Amino acid sequence: MPFKSLQLSANVLRGVQAAGYTDPTPIQLRAIPAVLGGGDLIASAQTGTGKTAAFALPILTRLGAHGRARVLVLEPTRELAAQVETAFRDFARFTDLRAVAVFGGVGYGNQRSELKRGVDIIVATPGRLMDYLKTGEINLRDITILVLDEVDRMLDMGFLPTVKDIIGRCPRERQTLFFSATVPPEIAAVAAFALRNPTRVECGVNRSVNESVKHALYPVALEQKFDLLVALLAKTDFDSVLVFSRTKHGADKIARRLKLANHSVAVLHANRSQNQRIEALAGFKSGKYEVMVATDIAARGIDVAGISHVINYDVPEKPEDYVHRIGRTGRAQAVGDAFTLVTPENAGDIRDIQRFIGAKIPELRLEGFDYKPMGAPRPPEPRRQGGQHRGGQPGGRGQSTGSRPSGGGHPAGGGQAPRPGQSGPSGQGGFGGGQRPRQNQGGGFSGYGGRGRR
Ligand code: AMP
Repeated sequence: MPFKSLQLSANVLRGVQAAGYTDPTPIQLRAIPAVLGGGDLIASAQTGTGKTAAFALPILTRLGAHGRARVLVLEPTRELAAQVETAFRDFARFTDLRAVAVFGGVGYGNQRSELKRGVDIIVATPGRLMDYLKTGEINLRDITILVLDEVDRMLDMGFLPTVKDIIGRCPRERQTLFFSATVPPEIAAVAAFALRNPTRVECGVNRSVNESVKHALYPVALEQKFDLLVALLAKTDFDSVLVFSRTKHGADKIARRLKLANHSVAVLHANRSQNQRIEALAGFKSGKYEVMVATDIAARGIDVAGISHVINYDVPEKPEDYVHRIGRTGRAQAVGDAFTLVTPENAGDIRDIQRFIGAKIPELRLEGFDYKPMGAPRPPEPRRQGGQHRGGQPGGRGQSTGSRPSGGGHPAGGGQAPRPGQSGPSGQGGFGGGQRPRQNQGGGFSGYGGRGRR
């Protein structure tokens, strides 16, 4: 069914066409009629599914023409707030509707003048919105549509009390749209408090990785992780690489060491100032920085075209974050590659990820890298000495090994990693049936099933 059968207004349809969309995604097909109908909605859908347009297009249609501030969208991060506001502006380009993004870390001046000009849609992070609510520069009495986006992330970030406070300040007669990848009991409680007879749209937790991404594990001893990262970068023909660290401190350390190894590096995490974050993203998008080191929360939802590789320096804590991270590459039909550095300590996490995505991830070995024996997993963190962060430490000596080969792909030389979107318990690369181009021989690390702590 094309967009034009979805009862969107003519001007919004023109905006959709100008954005280059031809067919609605599944969440758009299901959510747009529900939102146009005026009722509440609870949708489990993640970034990458097209959920922004799923709420923005019907909201713009319902608003019609410029008036008072009638829509509030809450986002967990500044980047998402900026991205969602841009989407609203793009789709609204043939209307006179106005959107503003309100988030912390930047001055108040521009946001204040936009607010004074009069806006229809406010896209905000909770903290900065509270500042304006306290000064009276924003009031929510005219809000008719409230969107709570990425609610599970808001929970992770400790925003829920503020979010509840904000919901309480909105008129009771309103439409509420609720988006969350998962709905644990705390979130179900907020949904019960905020929503009335919602339509449920279950796009399910996205367990599949984009079909155009090839991914692989690179087993390595903890003390060699950084050396292997540098060697992988040296042997990979990449355009732009996103490196994930579990911690902000770890991200800073990795970035420092990569700079010493002559890479141009940007860092994105919540302790960076907003201007630093804007500069990092803009520099990464423009190609000024070839590598960006980021934490999960900071990178959540960022939509950068042309990321050729994702490297998980640290294995993600939650299996769904693996899918999120890998989703940063291979967008828009480009082929991307994703490497995950794994130490024996990560065996349990890897097993959980494989179970979650329903596929075995092949293990590769970087040729020419001087692997040290891996030995047994170290004891769990509380007993570990020396204050290392839990994702391991980028503490090895940076070394560059060899030059980058042409042709991209995985640098391991042996075999092709499967495209995980094709896999599944019954598909190619399913449990036990995954292609293993080059089995690791360096210390009994092959196979995660049933081994490891947890
Ligand atoms: P989102 O899940 O809203 O972050 O969207 C993920 C990406 O998909 C963004 O780059 C959108 O511009 C793009 N997108 C969303 N809906 C469509 C569509 N119907 N057709 C093509 N691209 C889309």
